[in-house]
Amino acid sequence: MEPFSFHRLGSQQARLAALEACDDARYISGGMTLLPSMKLGLVAPSDLLDVTGLPGMRDITVEGRSVRVGAAVTHAAIADNAALNAVCPALCDLASQIGDRHVRNRGTIGGAVANNDPGADYPAALIVLDARIETDIRTIAVEDFLVGMFETALHQHELVTAITFDAPDIARYEKFPHPASGYAMAGVFLARSNSHYRAGITGASGEGAFRCGDLERLLTTGAPLADIAELRFDDLDIFDDRHGSRAYRENLIRVLARRAAVHLKA
Ligand SMILES: Cc1cc2nc3c(=O)[nH]c(=O)nc-3n(C[C@H](O)[C@H](O)[C@H](O)COP(=O)(O)OP(=O)(O)OC[C@H]3O[C@@H](n4cnc5c(N)ncnc54)[C@H](O)[C@@H]3O)c2cc1C
Repeated sequence: MEPFSFHRLGSQQARLAALEACDDARYISGGMTLLPSMKLGLVAPSDLLDVTGLPGMRDITVEGRSVRVGAAVTHAAIADNAALNAVCPALCDLASQIGDRHVRNRGTIGGAVANNDPGADYPAALIVLDARIETDIRTIAVEDFLVGMFETALHQHELVTAITFDAPDIARYEKFPHPASGYAMAGVFLARSNSHYRAGITGASGEGAFRCGDLERLLTTGAPLADIAELRFDDLDIFDDRHGSRAYRENLIRVLARRAAVHLKA
């Protein structure tokens, strides 16, 4: 790993001053993705700016069904938050399934969305929840924010500050983790609000998380759950690699979708 300077930021003024002063600064939150990339020599920033101490970045606020999660909230804190569990337990359950205990104690929701790994769990939930990504300069609808594999709409040095959404009536996350990494081989997040279903799928496509309109229509129109076995993904770039063939991944999506649907219909 190349040498670097570390700055623990306490205010937005300090962040702007550090950006001005540093050659090639990079934000760090949990470091669960960034530090391995630095160890492998994939990136070599001159300065790391720790954003987890910035005001409001570690707060979870729930008002009615309106939720705001600070970008530096860890996966473990999301999993354990009582107010969030009361309105959207599926998101807490999703967070509890990320990686292992060490990853959950350090990794943050802001770092995860900024990274946009195609195997990450949150994107499936956030597109279903129609979340908004707040940054230091604007608010972006999540479907505009998540551009593609490891790609987002963030400009250089734009800071994710929070994620906001309205909790659905009911939701469920079903995941099949890769046995070594814990990342999703496939994950299905399903939610229902006012009799309307939304479905998001992660882990299975190089295009990142995607909505599944056919599954949403099938559930919203009350078709038999057995019809989920007929879902097709021909127009999508589904992974076909040494971890699992395309047919295997497609079948995983159907199985996980049915499990989630059974929960919501019960
Ligand atoms: C062994 C292992 C298993 C894992 N398993 C899973 C899993 O099952 N599911 C899953 O979803 N994820 C998994 N992860 C990834 C984990 O969730 C990370 O926490 C996450 O991807 C990155 O979050 P972080 O806070 O650690 O970000 P960091 O590593 O600190 O940063 C990642 C990137 O985001 C940028 N960044 C960080 N914070 C911000 C911000 N607020 N605004 C703008 N840019 C920012 C950084 O500059 C960097 O480019 C795993 C990781 C490991 C190491």
